[in-house]
Formats: sequence, C-alpha cells, structure tokens
Amino acid sequence: MNNNLYSLIGLIAAVCFILALKGLSSPKGARRGNIIGAIGATIATVVVFFYNDPAEGGLKNLPLILIAILVGVIVGVPAARKVQMTAMPQLVALFNGVGGGAAALVAIVEYLYLGDKASGGEVGATVFTVLVGCISFTGSILTFLKLQELMTTRPVVFPGGRAVIALVLLAVLGAAGWVAVDKGSTSLLILTVLSLVFGILFVLPVGGADVPIVISLLNAFTGLTVAATGYVLDSTLLLVAGTLVGASGTILTRLMASAMGRPILGILFGAFTATPQAALNAADARPVKSGSPDDVAILLAYARRVVIVPGFGLAVAQAQHTVRELADLLTAKGVEVAYGIHPVAGRMPGHMNVLLAEANVPYEQLKEMEDVNPTFSQTDVALVVGANDVVNPAAKTTPGCPIYGMPILDVDQATNVIFLKRSMRPGFAGIENELLYDPRTTLLFGDAKDSLTKVVSALKVF
Ligand code: NDP
Repeated sequence: MNNNLYSLIGLIAAVCFILALKGLSSPKGARRGNIIGAIGATIATVVVFFYNDPAEGGLKNLPLILIAILVGVIVGVPAARKVQMTAMPQLVALFNGVGGGAAALVAIVEYLYLGDKASGGEVGATVFTVLVGCISFTGSILTFLKLQELMTTRPVVFPGGRAVIALVLLAVLGAAGWVAVDKGSTSLLILTVLSLVFGILFVLPVGGADVPIVISLLNAFTGLTVAATGYVLDSTLLLVAGTLVGASGTILTRLMASAMGRPILGILFGAFTATPQAALNAADARPVKSGSPDDVAILLAYARRVVIVPGFGLAVAQAQHTVRELADLLTAKGVEVAYGIHPVAGRMPGHMNVLLAEANVPYEQLKEMEDVNPTFSQTDVALVVGANDVVNPAAKTTPGCPIYGMPILDVDQATNVIFLKRSMRPGFAGIENELLYDPRTTLLFGDAKDSLTKVVSALKVF
C-alpha cells in the first residue's frame, strides 16, 4: 500500500475516534459512539498489516505480532464479556496500565533501534514515554489491587515515606537527564526501573475518595505517552489517538476532582502530604437501632417526601428494579419521591445513573447532589440503599480522614434516615460512619434487594 493511502486510512481511523468521543458525551449517543470507536480501532489495527515503507520494507515479525494479538484476544475478550458492572473500574485500570506499559516498551525498542541516529526530539519523547508509561503501568496495577480489595483501600503511609518518595523522584529526574545526555541503554534501563518504582510509591498513599480520580489521571498519562510514542514512530494516528485520550482524561480528572472538592495538586502531591490513618475500630460495640421491613414500610408510608440515596451496595445487590418498584408504589400512595445522586456513588463515574436508567427510573426523579441537598431538611425519610461514604458526615467533621473535604449528600438533615446494608462494615474509604449510630437512624440489615422486596410486600398491605 502506498504511503499516502496508508496515511489517509489512518486519518479515517482518527476521525472515527473523534466521532466516538462526541457520541460518548451523551447517554443517548454512547452506544453509537462506542461502536464508531471500535470500528476506528479495528481500522487502525488492520491498516498496519499493509504498512510498506520503501526505505524499510514491509511489516516485520509477522508471527510475533499475530501471537501477541491472539494473546490479547484470549485474555481481553472473556475478561471484558464476563466483568460485572461493579468491577468495571478495576478492568479499566488494568487495561490502562497495560496500555502505558506497552507504549513504554514500544518507545524503548524504537530507541534501541535508532541508536545514535536518534534526534534530540526523539530522545526527549522516549524519556517522557518511558517515565510516564512506567508510572502509569505500576500505578494502574496498584489501583487495580486496591479496587479489587486484594490490598487495603486505605492510604498506605510508612515512616520516612516522604523522604523515600522525594529521593526516588529526584533519582527519576536525574536518570531522565542522564538518558538525554548519554543516549545509552544502561541509563534507559535505570530510568525504567526507577519509574516503575515511583509509580508504586505515587499510588500507595492514595486512598478512599481519591482512587477514582487517580485512575482517570493515570488514564490521561497513558494517552500522553501514546502521543509521545506517535512522535517517535512518526505516526499521526497514534499522535491523534493519544492526544484525545490525554485531553479527555485530563478533563474528566478535573471534573471529578471539582465534583469531589479535591484539589488536583493535593492528589498529585498526596504522596508527600499523606499522614497515617488511625486504625479502624472494628470492635465498636455501640448500640444501633435496627428495624424490620414492616418498621421501614410504616416510616415510608407515612412520609410526605422520601429521598432514595443509591450507592455501591445497590449495584452489588442489583436492586435497581426493586428500588424502582418501591418508588412507584410510594408515588402511587401520594408520597413525593426523588433519588439523590452523588457524582462518585458506586465504583465508576455515572454508575448510579446507568443502573437507574436500566430500571427506567423517570429522569425527572434523579436529582444531582447540589439540587437535592437543600431539600433534605424538608425530607421525612432519607432511604440510603447500599451507600456509605457518599453520606458520611466525617467528610465535613473529621479533618485528616480519607474523605475529608468531599461534598456529601446531606442525609443527616432529614427527619429520619434508613440504611439498607448487610453489616456494620464500612464503605470503600474504610472509615466509620457516625450517622449509623444517630438516634434518627434505623438500620435494616440484609442484602438490599431482599430487604427492598420485603419492604415492598409490607407496603402493599397498607
Ligand atoms: P461505599 O463503598 O462507601 O459503601 C457501600 C455500602 O454498600 C457499604 O456500606 C456496604 O455495607 C453496602 N453493601 C454492599 N453490598 C451490599 C448489598 N448486597 N446489599 C446491601 N448493602 C450492600 O459506597 P458509596 O457508593 O457510598 O461510595 C462510593 C465510594 O467508592 C467512594 O468512597 C468513592 O470515592 C469510591 N469510588 C468511586 C468510584 C467512582 O468513580 N464512582 C471509583 C472507585 C471508588 P455492607 O458491607 O455492610 O453491606
């Protein structure tokens, strides 16, 4: 295939990526956007097989490339098909990390291939790709482990940690400068190892509310490394695709950080400022008020206004249809019902909107945090279904706790609060919720779907 045609097809793939982003910007166009993006990715992959640079000849190492694609398909397709919606962020973190690592590897191979012929710009781009790609690789693997709860989700801070992190960062920058001057392979190997270590140290002190923001940030990092690889490889397609991921990831990171009241710089330098958290008081034996499905049904039936606050537990229990049934029943009884949606409820941006849309909850009943918060003081019952961190007043009252400063849904302003959860275990951030012990709070223990089904049955009797 001649070079012009090759570039033209690459351009078509790049246009597909731009149209995909446009589609993904609204729930209505998301499915179409996804399909267009997949078509673009397929075109971008297939066109490489027709690459034929007159100076270098056709595509080399074909069997190795095919084996790599086969391994990717065997691992990736079942993983993406089988993943539960609640585990989607982990999968995204894992795929993103692999992307960052791959970009770094490609840059290393190209750098070794170019040798002394590498221009200053190519060496600079290689240093950037290796540094950021490696940080993205190990950082994303660590966020995967945290989200999958294969390790603690709380900030990990060790004595002298700040000094170690600062030293490693200095060493990374020093190694980057060394590669730029010496253009050798030993310096590049040292930069690679130090960057991998820094990725781990960067994410270890991040905990609780900041993990989703860090995933998005690492995603933006991967985009930038791919763009830099595009520069080294002289590939417009990689440049465009990488820049799109870098730019959209940066915008998403900013939006999430502002929705959660977390300064981005605070997260970036969290490694330097995090302090050890007090251990969770697992043996807290204070009394709580638990109720039966009948008690809950009575509270709801006599309410004028009920706000349902869904959280991660709703997704785990897959209780979105039952919660809608309950809301419909209450509405039919003349109760005003709204859903209070926190921007980071669940485990991915928009998680609650996706779940409730699946159950065809009327759009006008979904209230954003800033719209619903002023109404809690006129709400008779706040029904918290599998949410914890997003309603935890510690975000306002306990400086230094992992969610301090995150805006929450002010359910503590409602006349009565009902929590549907299985136990006294904390939420993602791993911190106690004082609201569970409040005299206005009733706990209905059990799986959210079972509990809601029983409440619906009890309500039908009224
Ligand atoms: P939390 O993780 O704080 O709390 C979930 C609650 O659901 C727990 O109290 C748990 O208690 C309960 N639960 C779990 N399973 C069930 C079940 N089957 N039935 C009933 N209850 C259940 O969730 P929130 O939505 O309040 O907060 C989200 C948290 O996740 C925030 O800290 C956020 O920062 C973080 N996060 C958000 C991401 C995003 O992009 N949205 C991504 C990654 C993290 P019990 O075990 O006792 O049942």
